[in-house]
Amino acid sequence: MEQNSLNFIEQIVENDIATNKYGKAILTRFPPEPNGYLHIGHAKSICLNFGLAQKYGGATNLRLDDTNPITEETEYVTSIKNDVKWLGFEWKNDEERYASDNFGALYEYAQKLIGLGKAYIDFSSSEQMAAEKGTMVTPGTENEYRNTPIEDNLRIFAEMKDGKHADGACVLRAKIDMAANNLLMRDPVIYRIKHATHHRTADTWCIYPMYDFAHCLCDSIEGITHSICTLEFEVHRPLYDWILETLNVYHPQQIEFARLNLSYTVMSKRKLLEMVQENLVTGWDDPQMPTISGLRRRGYTASSLREFAHRVGVAKRDNMIDLSLLEFCIREELNKTAHRVMAVLDPLRLVITNYDEVEREWLIAENNPEDPNAGTRQILFGKELWIEQDDFMENPPKKYFRLAVGQLVRLKYAYIVQCNKVIKDENGKITEVHCTYLPNSKSGDDQSGINVKGTIHWANVYHAKTAEVRLYDRLFTHEDPARQKDVDFKTLINPNAKQQITAYVEPHLLEMEAGTSVQFMRKGYFCVDRDSTPEKLVFNKTVGLKDSWAKSIEK
Ligand code: ATP
Ligand code: MG
Repeated sequence: MEQNSLNFIEQIVENDIATNKYGKAILTRFPPEPNGYLHIGHAKSICLNFGLAQKYGGATNLRLDDTNPITEETEYVTSIKNDVKWLGFEWKNDEERYASDNFGALYEYAQKLIGLGKAYIDFSSSEQMAAEKGTMVTPGTENEYRNTPIEDNLRIFAEMKDGKHADGACVLRAKIDMAANNLLMRDPVIYRIKHATHHRTADTWCIYPMYDFAHCLCDSIEGITHSICTLEFEVHRPLYDWILETLNVYHPQQIEFARLNLSYTVMSKRKLLEMVQENLVTGWDDPQMPTISGLRRRGYTASSLREFAHRVGVAKRDNMIDLSLLEFCIREELNKTAHRVMAVLDPLRLVITNYDEVEREWLIAENNPEDPNAGTRQILFGKELWIEQDDFMENPPKKYFRLAVGQLVRLKYAYIVQCNKVIKDENGKITEVHCTYLPNSKSGDDQSGINVKGTIHWANVYHAKTAEVRLYDRLFTHEDPARQKDVDFKTLINPNAKQQITAYVEPHLLEMEAGTSVQFMRKGYFCVDRDSTPEKLVFNKTVGLKDSWAKSIEK
């Protein structure tokens, strides 16, 4: 999976550099439509486009592909710029481009096509146009508008621009071939009327270019060398080439690669928008969302997403990447960087009956055994502690090395304790476990000579702070929720995807800023959420400690 040799796009680029095909450094572009927040699939495309430019001494344009005034908003533009920067990339001259910058030029190109007899205005209804389109096995039919004289087409096109025609009254179509095998070449629509306010050009325009017309010409105007897009545009490439050739303008090369599909995830802005609008999530940056902003809030770092994109590689055929690869990337990174702390998520009271109540004993705790420079901190030990419910069992099976009546266990950074009895409430539920500690067994200075197999973490009942912890599981119950026939993907949302609990954590965590990641020992990696206040901590679970992906590749 990891690519040591060149991928097929790098091969093309290296070849073009060797033959000096463009006579200049490469220029790629990342062209999102500002109709939603960017997701992990976009991150893949960003890493590819910006990564190629970095590798080959070129540059990348960030182009907001804003040709549809209905769905596009400035909020999305802001989030897109923010996410690309956060991922660690800089676009050319720090100046973003907009397709709408070229509306004037695109209008002139359309006029030029009409002048060449290569475009015409069609007043047919959309139903009629669909019927005339033909099918995969039957050719389309040419209609009367195809033969409108050039001067009339030019005049009507100007009227369209001047607002003299209503939305949908007519369209401008390229005049290519109604019998073409590729249906996209059967006189595609290239301009339509929309009396709508655009987020940048306001009401200057009431006609807007279609994607296929705008995209290739923006690439050409900007002097892009390699226009990299996902596989579904392969069938559009003849149109891309036809427009640039017919207009006889600078011609970049379109190259297609397989889009990223991730299991247990939907990755279409339209679907993500539906989840936001229907309040199935708290917003675009809900930590459960596969958006870049959601992943960031969940605790993913930019470097972990870049590493993920690198490991996914560049494929020519559609495939599905396992979500656990993404989790693997952040787990690997946090294992090296995150400080270890103790947090009890499901508390049970432990009382050390032979420990002095007023004793305030500070213990030394290592911040990160993986990083010798991470230092140590002090934590307060005491007579009453919280431990995890599942670290105690009344009737333990063999090889249960945690706490049970009569058994010994080490409390992390502290002493060996032995459990003597349990206290139950009137319903028979265990409310406390009572232990005695071995005073000569202190961690780092253990003179007890006793070897215990289990070590458990704990929190000091009188010292620990409470924190709200949001636990997440996969958002969908199905591996491929978006492609189930006759099933609304939203019915496949995992009802247990989010759980909220109260945990006891070390008090120094209160000083941590939003975005800080820590490892709750034995539990997983957690990240301070921006909902935290000086009084109340909120954590998101980023990922557990268990490494299901590494196991699956071992097999
Ligand atoms: P969506 O289907 O989620 O709305 P889109 O392709 O319509 O995505 P755009 O804003 O048009 O979104 O995409 C910007 C760029 O990101 C395009 O070059 C597109 O090919 C690329 N891209 C989008 N989704 C993916 C993906 N899943 N994997 C790789 N690249 C992607
Ligand atoms: Mg799109």
